[in-house]
Amino acid sequence: MTKRVVLIGHPVAHSLSGAMQQAAFDALGIDATYELWDRAPIALADAIAELRADDFLGANVTIPHKERVVPMVDKLTEEAGATGAVNTITREGKRLVGHNTDVPGFKVALDRLVGKQKMPRHAVVLGAGGGARAVVYGLITEGFQRVVVFNRHLHRAEGLVKHFGRSAAHMELRAMPWHESIIEAELAKTKLLVNATSIGLTADDSPVTAESLHGELLVLDLIYSKTRLLRDAQAAGAQTADGELMLLHQGAAAFTLWTGQPAPLDIMQATLAEARAGGLRSAEGEPTGEPAGAAAE
Ligand code: NDP
Repeated sequence: MTKRVVLIGHPVAHSLSGAMQQAAFDALGIDATYELWDRAPIALADAIAELRADDFLGANVTIPHKERVVPMVDKLTEEAGATGAVNTITREGKRLVGHNTDVPGFKVALDRLVGKQKMPRHAVVLGAGGGARAVVYGLITEGFQRVVVFNRHLHRAEGLVKHFGRSAAHMELRAMPWHESIIEAELAKTKLLVNATSIGLTADDSPVTAESLHGELLVLDLIYSKTRLLRDAQAAGAQTADGELMLLHQGAAAFTLWTGQPAPLDIMQATLAEARAGGLRSAEGEPTGEPAGAAAE
């Protein structure tokens, strides 16, 4: 019986995960298909119920469902419970388990960016959505001592801080209002900047001014392309990374959870590179718009 894995999101048409996961199944001779299921929120519960059938290995969950799906599965891993977000589902008999592989994906990207340097202890995170939750949890468990979260809608950043209240009890986790001067002041005294907003995804915009970036910064943009933020950061002498490694490693972790096999990273990476050459830049399922700026390099 051909096994099935589905990506559930709304919309999902531009997903990079589809090509990457199908290439991995094919490379290892696993008889499985990766399908894209565009499901509006109202149809989500029925879609999740379908996954309990024997032909499913599991699923990926993406925008806008990562948080909504939490009460619909039977069990959560530590990362999914802590972040309150599920991006991968596996099946144990009729029971569904929710995982969050964005967390290990982020940690691989962070480790690679930091390289041989000492892991910083202070970070600024822009954004308070599902991606930001994985980032903040990754920073908490990595031993960061001060993390400041900026978000356009402050209440969402405050909600994130409240959510992590207990796991962040030993450190300073703060929500701050999205004001240019406050962001600039925080960046002046921080080493790590993570962009977990979608600013730069569909237009050549940056969430921060070029003047607020400095050469001591490590800058990670979760968006899978050379965004304006990354170009400005490089011009300021900072070290930078885009969302490729996080996307690759969240996918690799999901692949292993479904199949029990190590993921063929080279093949998955090559498939992503092909998709990037074709102009796709979104790590998730949202519309990608026209590639902007240096995206279609
Ligand atoms: P969400 O929709 O949950 O969150 C979007 C975030 O972007 C919110 O903080 C939102 O702020 C902010 N935002 C959007 N537009 C603006 C704007 N014009 N001005 C200021 N803030 C804005 O998305 P996710 O957290 O899931 O994803 C965020 C980004 O991270 C996406 O680009 C996604 O592709 C990427 N991502 C990459 C991954 C990878 O593996 N590389 C994994 C997960 C995400 P507000 O709350 O105020 O609306």
